Amino acid sequence: MAFEGLSERLQSVMQKLRGKGKVTENDVKEAMREVRLALLEADVNFKVVKQFVSRVRERAVGQEVLKSLTPGQQVIKVVDEELTRLMGGEQSELVQAKRPPTIVMMVGLQGAGKTTTTGKLANHLLKQNHRPLLAAADVYRPAAIRQLQVLGEQLKVPVFSLGENADPVQIAKQALVQVNDEDCDYLLVDTAGRLHIDESMMDELKRMKEVIQPDEILLVVDAMTGQDAVNVAENFNRELGLTGVVLTKLDGDTRGGAALSVKAVTDCPIKFVGMGEKMDALEPFYPKRMSSRILGMGDVLTLIDRAKEAIDEEKAKELERKMRSQSFTFDDFLEQLEQVRSMGPLEDMLSMLPGVGKMKGLKNLQIDEKQLGRVEAIIRSMTPAEKQKPEIINASRRKRIALGSGVGVPEVNRLLKQFDDMKKMMKKFSSMTKGGKKKKKGFPFP
Ligand code: GDP
Repeated sequence: MAFEGLSERLQSVMQKLRGKGKVTENDVKEAMREVRLALLEADVNFKVVKQFVSRVRERAVGQEVLKSLTPGQQVIKVVDEELTRLMGGEQSELVQAKRPPTIVMMVGLQGAGKTTTTGKLANHLLKQNHRPLLAAADVYRPAAIRQLQVLGEQLKVPVFSLGENADPVQIAKQALVQVNDEDCDYLLVDTAGRLHIDESMMDELKRMKEVIQPDEILLVVDAMTGQDAVNVAENFNRELGLTGVVLTKLDGDTRGGAALSVKAVTDCPIKFVGMGEKMDALEPFYPKRMSSRILGMGDVLTLIDRAKEAIDEEKAKELERKMRSQSFTFDDFLEQLEQVRSMGPLEDMLSMLPGVGKMKGLKNLQIDEKQLGRVEAIIRSMTPAEKQKPEIINASRRKRIALGSGVGVPEVNRLLKQFDDMKKMMKKFSSMTKGGKKKKKGFPFP
């Protein structure tokens, strides 16, 4: 997982401070020494580390912190605020031109994820009821045009192309005409990358910029490449003037250096982060939330956003009613399982809960996604009647279900038992919440 090492180390430094009734200047110094090492190890640019640590130290040894009632907490607050500021402070949104179309140039080196991100951004815009047109101007990477066309078909978004032999600037220029013809309000141009930064690429991009006058030039960089990503950003920004950066592959185990240094080094905000290969794996970048995640304070807001996207509110209400009236069936269970899985890997979701990183038992918990797959297979091997009324599942039915789903009978038994326990628990909860008196005893649900 991204930031894992950094997160662990910072949390252990913060943990030492947290409980202290009194924090001395020396404690702060010692803590900052460890923060400095942790950041350097995470591949954060050394100048950025130096500035960051000196800012935090200056603020943390201030009287209002050391004399406060909870000095340890105050230092953590300072670190959180400075980390947030380091990553850009406020969220930086995608520009929308006053008069459509909004023109976005997607630039970057080969393999960074530019074409994929162009598709993801179109998907993001579709969800906001925009009508994007994609222009396939990456004529250098073999198959990039076809890749964009496939993504366009998948998303049902038009893709403009003039083939591989056309001049990328001409492609972009003609796409601009097409935008009006197709009645689109965003034009996303997938430009041609190269393996390394070279003059001909920059010249081409500059010419394109000149001709289409983009509202936004987004650089796509691979977070896994650490400081290289920051150097690439610096170069592109100097030559072309970027309006934002998209950091891809943040779902991998990058140490995090790029995410923490890009803004400070280039002054370009990170606008989005790529969290996977699928079209919905693009998230707006929120510095505050990212800082909370790194410091182990959770990121409940992102979790809520994901839930909002994955879970239909009407269905959730219906589910609650079913739970209360105990008419919850395996069909409902399956549906719920699918919704939860569409929110992303469970491990990822757990990491967004405050304090989970610190729980020893959970830290080494490898969530077995395959196990969920087996649960799904078992349920799918049941007949409609069995799903509605699991109590009819006798020994021979259990055997058949086990055969059908490719698991052993004990696994089927376990699931049935768990389902039964869950229903009993729901019954208990709903009877407890019926009486107002019991609620007062501190029962946690409304
Ligand atoms: P381009 O040459 O810059 O256009 O690169 P592509 O869009 O073809 O992406 C290169 C590879 O990176 C592909 O295999 C993508 O699926 C993968 N990729 C892109 N973004 C992400 C991401 O956010 N996470 C992960 N895990 N893979 C990504």
